[in-house]
Amino acid sequence: MSERLVIMGPQGAGKGTQAARLAEHLGVPAISTGDIFRANIKGGTELGLLAQSYTSKGELVPDEVTNAMVRDRVGQDDAAGGFILDGYPRNAAQVVELDAILADLGTGLDHVVELTAERPELLARLRKRAEIEGREDDTEETIARRLDIYDEQTAPLTSAYAERGLLVRVDGIGQVDEVTDRVLAGLAAAD
Ligand code: ADP
Repeated sequence: MSERLVIMGPQGAGKGTQAARLAEHLGVPAISTGDIFRANIKGGTELGLLAQSYTSKGELVPDEVTNAMVRDRVGQDDAAGGFILDGYPRNAAQVVELDAILADLGTGLDHVVELTAERPELLARLRKRAEIEGREDDTEETIARRLDIYDEQTAPLTSAYAERGLLVRVDGIGQVDEVTDRVLAGLAAAD
């Protein structure tokens, strides 16, 4: 099944985990803007240096940088049969740009999955992840900033996708397997 999916949800909702599982299930690549930035930061590239000055503070990387990166990645051969986009779009301008990128490729989105969870659960998960992974942007202050940006700029985007009939809302609380089953059931029901 070819699927062009966006997976949305607040930090700690389990987007990355579910994106990887869905990618395997659907046979399409999971594309995470956060992972691409982290790989560039680790590799010391020019993009990485620029990105880090924003990611380390929990701020969004400027749209022109992120948009160009996504356009390049989504246009690669392995994404021709579908993809799961994790971490993009994150603001209204990126929604417009994603539509343009896909229109230029002669295609469009099939579904947008929103994983939901309340802030106390998100904070508990992110604090645990901070202990395990030690991500530079998982400090208390930066976590709060990222969640605020999500509430202000990213969460409102789901209503636009709902109006287009693309949105599949899934409760992100529960065992990882259960949540994957819910997403797959939600996608099947939405077809
Ligand atoms: P999280 O969702 O936990 O904040 P991500 O791995 O998705 O983590 O993103 C890490 C950081 O990368 C973000 O805080 C932001 O600085 C940057 N980033 C990722 N995606 C985008 C995007 N679409 N637009 C701008 N910045 C982004």
